[in-house]
Amino acid sequence: MSDKKLSRPVYLDNHATTQTDPRVVEAMLPYFNKSFGNPHSGSHYYGWEAADAVELARGQVADSIGASPEEIYFTSGATEANNIALKGATRFYREKKNHIVTCVTEHPCILDSAHDLASEGTRVTFLEVGSDGLIDLDNLKDAITDDTLLVSVMTVQNEIGTVQPIAEIGELCHQHEVLLHTDAAQALGKMSLDVKAMNVDLMSITGHKVYGPMGCGALYLTKKPRVKIKPLFSGGGQEKSIRPGTLPAPLCVGFGKTCELAAIEVEGEAKRLRQMRDELLTTLNNNLFGVHVNGGMKQRIPGNLNISVEGVDAESLMAALPDLAVSSGSACTSASAKASYVLDAIGLTTDLAESSLRIGLGRFTLQEEVNYAANRLIEEIRNIRKNRQVLSVNAAE
Ligand SMILES: *Cc1c(COP(=O)(O)O)cnc(C)c1O
Repeated sequence: MSDKKLSRPVYLDNHATTQTDPRVVEAMLPYFNKSFGNPHSGSHYYGWEAADAVELARGQVADSIGASPEEIYFTSGATEANNIALKGATRFYREKKNHIVTCVTEHPCILDSAHDLASEGTRVTFLEVGSDGLIDLDNLKDAITDDTLLVSVMTVQNEIGTVQPIAEIGELCHQHEVLLHTDAAQALGKMSLDVKAMNVDLMSITGHKVYGPMGCGALYLTKKPRVKIKPLFSGGGQEKSIRPGTLPAPLCVGFGKTCELAAIEVEGEAKRLRQMRDELLTTLNNNLFGVHVNGGMKQRIPGNLNISVEGVDAESLMAALPDLAVSSGSACTSASAKASYVLDAIGLTTDLAESSLRIGLGRFTLQEEVNYAANRLIEEIRNIRKNRQVLSVNAAE
């Protein structure tokens, strides 16, 4: 490994965010300084130039998920897209139908949006998941009633990388005239996405999880039949008033390029990441006892490995490994480290949840970095276990 790489910790947290691809940065640069116009300025060249770039990007985003450009609404990311999808659709349709269904392992922006809607009088069902991280379609079927407006189930879970059977969920929804929304923030670029094949009516995506810039994402809204939204913001009518506000042209351009690259590179990348990920797991298992994979291994994106290491506290392990950038399955607030609700939902004990590590490999992860990480993990896990044994022997004396 080059010294330059080693001078910084090995980055294995690609579920939190990703390095922006240099090709994306290059595409964005002119729109900061030279072609800096407001894409909504209709009266001069600068505005037209920026607007053309934004519309090209909209087409690239649409193509990457099998949508058409007029079905794409730019947002600041998946958090905003998810809020608009859930709150906007429910508030528009609630006089007709006022029940939504989601899942306990969704991202906090979905769960909190659902709680907000519940406090406004919408009935919300939260589906449980199995130890594999997936919902049971029979439970979904049982939850759907004549009053059900929308189901929201994420495509890929952000901690354990598991992939829900979205096409089947969508089929069931459509049989009952229910809309399907999916948070595909962790799915874009990790697997092929096609809104039609997936039977999805609303989809949220974001740039920074897939080698694009932070601060730009999109909401897909099907036009057949058109999904109506009560906007969350008042403003100048941009994005057909569904998300008003000046579009950040450089970010839209970057997000468009990101989506274009994702669609081209998804297969080759998946193959490379799966191989590195599987070898990493094999190496850990060959050298350590008590390594558990959290969530099913079969329905999982290639770059994700979420493991619990018996008897090893994740916070201590990460403290011993400043040369690795990984995260724990625990969602840590500054004051208290509380075990992840996702790991709790798949049935982990608190002990195992507090021993969990989320390893996220990505486009820029090198094989030698994974090898280095494997060796360091084995070394420090053995160390922690040895020290614990010494401590418990001393305590027994
Ligand atoms: C990161 C993430 C989000 C939030 O996306 P932002 O673009 O950062 O707002 C939502 N859902 C999932 C599954 C995510 O991983």
